[in-house]
Amino acid sequence: MSRQRRVHTAPEIALRRELHRRGARYFVDRAPLPGLRRRADLVFPRLRVAVYVDGCFWHSCPEHATFPKRNAEWWAAKLAGNVARDRDTDARLTTAGWLVVRVWEHESAALAADRVQAALARR
Ligand SMILES: [Zn+2]
Repeated sequence: MSRQRRVHTAPEIALRRELHRRGARYFVDRAPLPGLRRRADLVFPRLRVAVYVDGCFWHSCPEHATFPKRNAEWWAAKLAGNVARDRDTDARLTTAGWLVVRVWEHESAALAADRVQAALARR
């Protein structure tokens, strides 16, 4: 998904601002694992927490997933591929001892920040 993924989307920036306001410090748009070329939106290297802000369309959010009617088969395969890649990324990071937090772009920054902070507190 890295090619389509827009960097610094509005929901991502809102989450960064909210976490920063709460005192959290993190790296932005960085690959958690060397050799795994899949950047996370936020990375807390010391605690090994990686945060992804997933777009509802590109990552098939259960509430807002839509499937274009033109080239339907191609899109179905493409979007399913994105989700499979997400799960594979989660599995690789988890195996390497990371905690992965996935936030939907439709979630409020405050609730998303709560989830990230809860994950950080568990480390
Ligand atoms: Zn959504």
